[in-house]
Amino acid sequence: MFTPSEISSIQKLLIPNNKIVIITHYNPDGDAIGSSLGLKHFLSQKGLEADVIVPNDFPKFLKWMPDAKKIIIADYKRKQAGEAIYNADVIFILDFNASHRSGNLVGPWIEKARAKKILIDHHQQPEDFDFVYSDVNIPATSQMIYHFIDSLNETDLVNKDIAECLYTGIMTDTGGFRFRSTSATTHRIVANLIEKGADPAMITSNTWDTNTVSRLHLLALVLGRVEVVKEGKVAILWLKRDELKEFGFQKGDTEGFVNYGLSIMGTQVSAFFMEDLYEDFIKISFRSKEDVDVNQFSRKYFNGGGHINAAGGKYRKSIEETIEDFKEKIAEEDF
Ligand code: 5GP
Ligand code: MN
Repeated sequence: MFTPSEISSIQKLLIPNNKIVIITHYNPDGDAIGSSLGLKHFLSQKGLEADVIVPNDFPKFLKWMPDAKKIIIADYKRKQAGEAIYNADVIFILDFNASHRSGNLVGPWIEKARAKKILIDHHQQPEDFDFVYSDVNIPATSQMIYHFIDSLNETDLVNKDIAECLYTGIMTDTGGFRFRSTSATTHRIVANLIEKGADPAMITSNTWDTNTVSRLHLLALVLGRVEVVKEGKVAILWLKRDELKEFGFQKGDTEGFVNYGLSIMGTQVSAFFMEDLYEDFIKISFRSKEDVDVNQFSRKYFNGGGHINAAGGKYRKSIEETIEDFKEKIAEEDF
């Protein structure tokens, strides 16, 4: 958590005269959108306005969240996003650890901005900013926003909008309150959020019961070709660009596919490889159990990073070569 003196400095920044901007990582997920909108609604309770800026578009299944439609998507509104960041007095950097994780457009804007920068995030190895609240043992940035509100002694300001957003972020980043580092504290906070008006059934249904028939067909294709290697400890899944096109791929359609690999009895690692729809690279998702560290593995071999049990990467070879390289590297790993 921020130190008491940092909290009082931050409090002095949160005043109506200051322009506040909240930024998330590229390809924003439930936690990125949930923490950002949760913070925006909290600031609004304090009588402060804030712009939420995301580098690129986010999945439809997150657009039900209160004020999701007001989010500025930098890819579509360059001028507005650039000016807001340039003019900001305070920038909250949520759910990512380094400027470059917000992409080629927004990343350099953050670096150049004159604003005071406040990072709240749970990824490994954060860059240095004016104020840093980084904790890799907390399962979601949305939970950290609640801790932040608590450290300001303002949990009484938490209303239904804030509760819904933070609940969604915690629910999605913990895979439905299941993943490691989901703690008693997480559940206590979630209980508070329910008391403040977050409806678990509504949120789950809006966020997760949103399959299209074509997404299920895509999933069936992926599951039909699951392969396990390394004595059943590693699951491999993959999709090609032509297949994405054939099934009318939309952003977010493949979210969660990688988790199915971990549901196979005995697996420790699941890896999902997907040809990018537009550019010539392979997007990789890694998931792991217990102490198997896919963050280090992805940093070392696949130009990526993330958390111990959930990481991603990018690779500029064909999908066949990428999977071959992966099999070679994973065979050498000690688990
Ligand atoms: P996902 O597999 O859902 O895309 O990503 C899993 C986790 O790894 C996320 O927390 C995300 O922040 C991180 N991650 C994904 N791709 C990359 C990447 O290319 N570089 C780094 N450093 N982290 C990534
Ligand atoms: Mn997160």
